[in-house]
Amino acid sequence: MKKFEENIRKVTPYVPGEQPSGSDIIKLNTNESPFAPSTMVQMAIASMMPDALRKYPDPDASDLVREIASYYDVDESKVFVGVGSDDILGMSFLTFFNSDKPILFPDITYSFYDVWADLYDIKYETIPLTETFEINPDDYKKENGGIVFANPNAPTGIALPKAQVEEIISANPDSVVIVDEAYIDFGGETVLDLIDKYENFLVVRTFSKSRALAGMRVGYAFGSETLIKALKDVKFSYNSYTLNVAAIRGAKAAIKDDEYFVGLVDEIKKTREETKRKLKQMGFECTNSQTNFLFAKHETVPAKEIFEKLREKSIYIRYFDKPRIDEYIRITIGTKEQMNALIMALEDILN
Ligand code: PMP
Repeated sequence: MKKFEENIRKVTPYVPGEQPSGSDIIKLNTNESPFAPSTMVQMAIASMMPDALRKYPDPDASDLVREIASYYDVDESKVFVGVGSDDILGMSFLTFFNSDKPILFPDITYSFYDVWADLYDIKYETIPLTETFEINPDDYKKENGGIVFANPNAPTGIALPKAQVEEIISANPDSVVIVDEAYIDFGGETVLDLIDKYENFLVVRTFSKSRALAGMRVGYAFGSETLIKALKDVKFSYNSYTLNVAAIRGAKAAIKDDEYFVGLVDEIKKTREETKRKLKQMGFECTNSQTNFLFAKHETVPAKEIFEKLREKSIYIRYFDKPRIDEYIRITIGTKEQMNALIMALEDILN
């Protein structure tokens, strides 16, 4: 190692799902929406004046914050926006997890949490989910420097009831509790209203899944004025202009087209249940997913083999070679046609 390299920060990065290209590919590996965003989004971007691109964007993205606040009936001072929920979560780790005590999160959850913790030198302890992949609130009633979990959880898809989420928050008044609601529009109970009850509680959401805007990179968070101000202070100490002008305009238009959004979510939930029923008939066991993906295990054929054989057929799903979940595959819910193609391919592989 050269001398200068010794001073370079060494990290093991998060590995996002593959983004293969090609028209014959069925991409069910990164929980994107299989549908286009609202046409209002496309119109909002197409009608942008070049002058809007010449200038810096509004550093507060106030137009978008106002739209989100009004849609969710929350005060603007309690809303924060970022470049996808990853940006907000990463910034939240940096802002709120600044204790000598370890932060807590489940052993099986979004695999970015331990990466941020390592990046920012935050001590952490992973709490095993139960045998049935559930979060047990009692496990989070001990000293900690913060708590973060996804609800519904990923990649299990399982949702923790609101009363139990509140049990975790109320037991931890001395640290910040973050609930990552990336998939909440597809099921489970939101705990958004608890931001008015608990000053130390943050909810993080995204436009990437239910609003079909993963490529635009927009996330949002709700929390007390104290938490949002702290996030803003860190953001403005790092990069004032996180959201670009097109993202601000597009996301605002997406929020406005509520009818389209409700239709998209409905369609995905229906297709999820239909696919789950078919998978069951083929010998798969699925968790009770409340998200836009299924987490499934076959009774005889190893998950890795299914993953690899589907890939040979240009169908991309996600496989995690990790303890406890290496027998499972995660399948993003696509269009009805895509799911039919998946079922046909699986029939072929299993026979
Ligand atoms: N949280 C969870 C649980 C996720 O699965 C994802 C998607 N990878 C994210 C957050 C980040 O999504 P985005 O940055 O696109 O908002």
